[in-house]
Amino acid sequence: MKGREYVMTRKVYMDNAATTYTSPEVLEEMLPYFSESFGNPSSIYSFSERNKKALSKARQQVANALNADPDEIFFTSGGTESDNWALKGIAFSHNGKGNHIITTRIEHHAILHSADFLEKNGFDVTYIGVDDKGRIDLSELERSIKDKTILVSVMFANNEVGTIQPIREIGSLCRERGVVFHTDAVQAMGHVPIDVREMNIDLLSLSAHKFHGPKGVGALFIRKGLRIENLMHGGGQEKGRRASTENVPGIVGLGKALEISCSKLPEEHLRLSSIRDRLINGIKDAVPHVKLNGADGAERLPNNINFSFIGVEGETLLFDLDGAGISASTGSACSSGSLEPSHVLMSLGMDHAMAHGSLRLSMGESTSEEDVDYVLEVLPEIVRKRREMSPLWEDYLKKLEEVK
Ligand SMILES: *Cc1c(COP(=O)(O)O)cnc(C)c1O
Repeated sequence: MKGREYVMTRKVYMDNAATTYTSPEVLEEMLPYFSESFGNPSSIYSFSERNKKALSKARQQVANALNADPDEIFFTSGGTESDNWALKGIAFSHNGKGNHIITTRIEHHAILHSADFLEKNGFDVTYIGVDDKGRIDLSELERSIKDKTILVSVMFANNEVGTIQPIREIGSLCRERGVVFHTDAVQAMGHVPIDVREMNIDLLSLSAHKFHGPKGVGALFIRKGLRIENLMHGGGQEKGRRASTENVPGIVGLGKALEISCSKLPEEHLRLSSIRDRLINGIKDAVPHVKLNGADGAERLPNNINFSFIGVEGETLLFDLDGAGISASTGSACSSGSLEPSHVLMSLGMDHAMAHGSLRLSMGESTSEEDVDYVLEVLPEIVRKRREMSPLWEDYLKKLEEVK
């Protein structure tokens, strides 16, 4: 695979949930729009014709991937903007009906911090909890819907632990109760099949750089007829709903990357699930006292692994793995570097020590069986050495002895 050459400077790149490289085929498709076809798609002259067509094509590609209509696709600057738009846009267009919003405790910060902002501006937000595998409780969601509820936002799949929510069921529930349903599908897009019609989704966020497209470009699906306030005010682009000259090369890349990942989805789902399970079982076999965080099998993204290693700090594992040429993460890229344990792992009911000992390995199209072999060769030894030096591990062993 050509893309592998990009990651060859690293022995193994296992942080695809943070970002992916732009595929060579995608880059090739984008290049003319930086140079010979640089025209502004809003201009009238024929020079811009190719740019207009490129935008329509990409809109159709995204619509195809979601079973949506091209008129329902709006390009944005990424997942964060799409999430902000969905929450603030619905809040400020539906405040005549009510001021209550429901989301979950394990959302990405693009949702949680938008919800904070809305709370400061007079909205009332309910945060639904999750079980120890990261699944929301549908009956809790049902009980939380009130007359004043205007929006439910539940992520399709979690970026740290990979748990997939029962989106279809949430969609039907919201439809029945007449509440708008948004899902942040940034991690799920291109990895699991998504059908906005069948799943009764009203709004959906996606981002190109999570499925081998470029960074800084995303989209929001907005169901036809849904009222939503604008987030970006200015020119008349995107049918007057999202101002700013379109990022044509980025949008072309997004469309192409999504088309490719959806066409390969069934085989990649199988391949990555099998690699994932081999790596999970390999780690469980080679390292005692570990805990897999998140759900199992079909309820988990095919490319996500998240383990807690008792008695070690996740950061020290990252450091040693990096030294061995393996790029991984402790959770979300945004919160690493902070000493606060992950809000997602804490919501799963984990204590601070376990949450600090977590490691996320996220795979992508470049991940091979050899990568898995290499991680299995290196990781158990790293954990063993770190535990030898760790007072936390010593304490844990003592406690085990006491229990006996
Ligand atoms: C990466 C990510 C985002 C943010 O997307 P950007 O394009 O980086 O702004 C939002 N939600 C989830 C679940 C993500 O994984």
